[in-house]
Formats: sequence, C-alpha cells, structure tokens
Amino acid sequence: MSYPDTLLLIDGDWCQAASGRSLPVVNPATGQEIGRVAHAGTEDLDRALAAVDRTFQDWKRFGAFERSKIMRKAADILRGRADEVAAIMTAEQGKPLAEARVEVLGACDTIDWFAEEARRAYGQVIPARRPGVTNITVKEAVGPVAAFTPWNFPINQVVRKVSAALATGCTIIVKAPEETPASPAALIRAFVEAGVPAGVLNLVYGDPAEISAYLIPHPVIRKVSFTGSTPVGKMLMGLAGQHMKRATMELGGHAPVLIFDDADVEAAIEGMLGAKQRNAGQVCVSPTRFLVQEGVADAFTEGFTEVYSKLKVGDPTEAGTQMGPLANDRRIPALTAMIEDAVAKGAKLKAGGKRIGNAGNFFEPTVITDVPTDALMMNDEPFGPLAIVNRYETEDEIFAEANRLPFGLASYAWTTSSRRAQRLQDEVRAGMLTINHLGLSMPELPFGGIGDSGMGTEGGSEAIESYLETRLVTRLG
Ligand code: NAD
Repeated sequence: MSYPDTLLLIDGDWCQAASGRSLPVVNPATGQEIGRVAHAGTEDLDRALAAVDRTFQDWKRFGAFERSKIMRKAADILRGRADEVAAIMTAEQGKPLAEARVEVLGACDTIDWFAEEARRAYGQVIPARRPGVTNITVKEAVGPVAAFTPWNFPINQVVRKVSAALATGCTIIVKAPEETPASPAALIRAFVEAGVPAGVLNLVYGDPAEISAYLIPHPVIRKVSFTGSTPVGKMLMGLAGQHMKRATMELGGHAPVLIFDDADVEAAIEGMLGAKQRNAGQVCVSPTRFLVQEGVADAFTEGFTEVYSKLKVGDPTEAGTQMGPLANDRRIPALTAMIEDAVAKGAKLKAGGKRIGNAGNFFEPTVITDVPTDALMMNDEPFGPLAIVNRYETEDEIFAEANRLPFGLASYAWTTSSRRAQRLQDEVRAGMLTINHLGLSMPELPFGGIGDSGMGTEGGSEAIESYLETRLVTRLG
C-alpha cells in the first residue's frame, strides 16, 4: 500500500494550499513520516466560502430525491474501495485493519441512511383557528456549514456531518484532521465521483484554531458542527453563539458502566472487552468508570483484567492484532501522568500502566482499581486503554457516582432486574444508555451527549433536523 499525499478540495479542484504549505503525516505504529497534507490559509478558505455560498441555492433546489441518488452512488463507490481505504486509515491512525474496514463500511451505511431519511423531511399542516386559514411549516436547509472533525474516527466523524448536510441541501466546508487526512479525503472523493457538484463539498486542513476562528464568524456560514474535546467545544459554541449560528457539539465523555449484583458477569466482561478494546480506548463513548457492586466485584475485576491485559497489542496491519498504537504521541504522557497521579492517591494498578517499547505509540491495556474520586482520571477523559474499576456496596452509591460528573455522553449497564433497568432509564444522566448489550452508534439512532458532553445529535432523525430550519407560512384564502 502506498500512502497518498492529501490535497485540499476547493470548489471542485483538488489543490495544494495557495501558500504551498504542507504538514507531515506520521504513522503512529512506527513514528515515521509517511506523507504530507496541504495546509490551507485564508486565501484558500475564502475560495471555499465563495464556493459554498454560490452553490447553496442550486443544491437546495436540486431536490431530496436527486441528492439521495448521488449519495447512494457515493456509498457504493466507497464500499468498492473498503480494503484500500481501510489500509490508508490504519497507516495514518493506527487502528487494526479489521476495525478500519468496519469504519469504512459503517460510513457507507451512514450515507445510505441519511440519503433515505432526508427524503422524509416533512413539514406540518397545523389546524387553524378560523375558517379559510391554512398554517403550514416548511423545512429548509439551514445554509452553508463549517464542520470540524477529530482524528480518532477519521471517516466516521466526517461522514455523519457531510451526509446530514448534503442530504438536507446544505453546502459544506469540512476541516478534517491533519493527523489522519488521507482516509477522509478518500470519502470525500467518493462523493465527488458520484456527482456532487463542484463547490458544494469542500475539504480543508490547516491550523484548527485559525480555521475555526475564520470560518465560524464568517457571514456565509450558517451552521457549525464540531467533534472534539469539551474545552474546545465550549469555545467554539461561544463563538457560534456570538454570531447567532446553529451549532452541534459532540464533545468528551467519561462513560460509567453500572454493574449490579444480579448482572450476567460473563456477558458484561465480553461486552465491555469489545467496547474498551475498540480503537485503543480513543473513543468518546469508551467505557471508562466501571462501577461494580460488591457481590460481583471480584468476579468482574478478575475476569475483565484477565482478558483485557492479554489483548494482542502490536502492528495494526498484522492479522490477529487486537489493539494498535495510540494515534498521537501526546496521549502517552497524558495517560502516564493520570496513572501516576491515581497511584500516588492510593489507587492499585492491577495490569499495564506503561508504554510498550520505544518505537510507535504503543501502550499497555491498563486496569486500575480503588481509584479515589479526586484522582485526575476520575474527572478527565483518559481517551486511551485505561479501565478504572471501583467497587460499591449499594445501588444508590453506584447511581450517585455515575451521575457525579458534568459529562453525559454514553453509559452502560448490566442487570437482570427490570426494576433496576427502569431506574437506570429514569435516573442515569447521559445522552445514551445501553443496557445488557452494545447498542450505540448506528446511523438510525441518536448519537449525542448532554451537559458538558455537548448539544445535539449526529444520528437518527434528530440529526437531520439540526440541518433544517422550520419556517411558518399562514395564509387566508
Ligand atoms: P484537542 O482538544 O487539542 O483536539 C481535539 C480536536 O479538536 C482535534 O481534532 C483538533 O484538531 C480540534 N481542535 C482543537 N482546537 C481547535 C480549535 N480551536 N478549533 C477547531 N478545532 C480544534 O485534543 P487532542 O489532544 O487532539 O485530544 C485530546 C482530547 O480531546 C481527548 O482526551 C478527548 O477528550 C478529546 N477528543 C474527543 C473526541 C471525540 O470523539 N469526542 C475526539 C478527539 C479528541
């Protein structure tokens, strides 16, 4: 596999930045530079802004059925390239090939789903108060979108935003991740080849802070969508608010896993292993705080540690590898500092805890128990292969810990009691709760957080709504 350099896509042209600047792309498994990505400046952004502005009305009027046809064609093109694009993603991001392939194929399903769903963006006819009056609501694309996506799911994070925007008739500028640029570019190329008109879909890379500071306040942009950390999200939301722009924010989480005395422990271990292993824990919905009730605490802790610590960590291109390197080297000191801090505060390191070797960003699957609530890792998202397992006597203590943090993205629970399942539904403050199975992240399901985890959803029919405006027309006669 030869790794391609990545260009910008502006107004239908794949091009270098006007300044000629580019950034290196590094393979996280080797630490070697494998390619370059063009670095957009203001001149490039101005061209992209002019393109989304000029093409918006035509794309909106193109009609949902025609847009849907192009999108489904893009999904088919990408499906046909799944192996090739997965190899590119693994080289730049580090997830095992099988996971990269699942991400590419999942993206195709997402495109298909949005292509279908936007054809049903119905308005309403509202009963009138007097004869002869008709009240109707009309749903219309909100306008040109600026989207910012991170490196952990290079395609999945882009495809949700692009699919919702294109399906509803919005034009869009995507600032995709500089660390993992070539696989999202392959996704965008599929849309272009399928027939998305020049200027409707634009792709840039560069300095994230400079680009967001330029695009968000710009009068052409009507909606902002960001996936990333909570502090950055709050800043961008503030900027969007100042300029009265619609915003969707998918931010950090700190997912609790509530495991009660009556849980099927074997099923919990198996399910949570899959969820924790995925993408080396660099997932906003990664299970993080395992809150286990006393009666099953030993069985869960021993069983989970046994399987998690034995995962095969290594070259992500090799068949059989279960966990690759971390995507960027800054996660290693971040995780190490969290582990040292927790141990200094009395936590017990049960497995892992260190970097593996000195080439590539490999880190041991780590289990740490008895972590006090003032430890950093109990409050900040570890975003890596780190499982915190704490035990509690009562159900109430588990609920209190699950709801302690300002985050509320994913939550997991294991119980065979329907009373507890009902209490979970009623009381766990999270945008997503999955009980006794792993049911998150399908295109047809809402995907989003509450509290400091963000605002809005990137899945389900609600995701379509956030790219539409509702206008009222009331008419007499
Ligand atoms: P970071 O906060 O520097 O960056 C997170 C993402 O935001 C990156 O993609 C980055 O390019 C982008 N970004 C940063 N500043 C920006 C700005 N001013 N304008 C626009 N985009 C900006 O952190 P990081 O080191 O890349 O990752 C650390 C933390 O970020 C993780 O621990 C995790 O909490 C969070 N994160 C969350 C997700 C997610 O899926 N929600 C993805 C990646 C990172």
